[in-house]
Amino acid sequence: MAEKLQAEVRCTSCGTVSPAGTLVCPECHAILAKPAGKARTPAWFIVLLIIVVAALLAYAGYLAWDQLVQHNYAPSPLQQ
Ligand SMILES: [Zn+2]
Repeated sequence: MAEKLQAEVRCTSCGTVSPAGTLVCPECHAILAKPAGKARTPAWFIVLLIIVVAALLAYAGYLAWDQLVQHNYAPSPLQQ
């Protein structure tokens, strides 16, 4: 494991150094940096994900609608 762990976090408001894992500054009660290991998801990735999911849902909806229309309007060979 060559991963370098952050030993301490520094408050961006008052500059107080706190042990790693501290979420709130003990001096000014400002919210400190997020815990290490959890990278922030970029906004473009979320937008891309929404677009892909929307496209898949639209395609699935189109397929379902197409199947429904064919099932309702196609002449059934069993009724002849
Ligand atoms: Zn602080």
